[in-house]
Amino acid sequence: MKKTWIISACLLGTPCRYDGKSCPFEIPDEWKDIELVPVCPEVLGGLPVPRTPSEIREGKVYFKSGEDVTEFFRKGALKTLEIARKNHADAAVLKSKSPSCGYGRIYDGTFTGNLTEGKGITAKRLEENGIRIISFEEFEKTK
Ligand code: SF4
Repeated sequence: MKKTWIISACLLGTPCRYDGKSCPFEIPDEWKDIELVPVCPEVLGGLPVPRTPSEIREGKVYFKSGEDVTEFFRKGALKTLEIARKNHADAAVLKSKSPSCGYGRIYDGTFTGNLTEGKGITAKRLEENGIRIISFEEFEKTK
């Protein structure tokens, strides 16, 4: 049976980023037998495209305008987990630095471009539920 992974939809070319763009990459040959299921937790959580940038501060997520949008991110993380489970995905390839998908390093909540150690809301939720996270940033370093 084919292996299934979840992948950040913007990495497969879906223009779902906050700025209405995507960030596609060339899928490596060694992944050709893996079924990649695209998800965008922020859209799943009910946020529009384009949208105001958001960052995590003290465990909550805020729009740059200051609005607390944590619930959208929690909902998106839960829906992503549901999709992962329904598809029997055992790993997730996630876009780096995002307050949803980031893993290892994320923006520090000051909207100044600074990074800090941390995990996005979805990355954390998936990991807590036994799904292996493949950080896209780390994957790129291995090439
Ligand atoms: Fe890409 Fe994840 Fe941000 Fe959606 S939430 S645009 S999938 S990084």
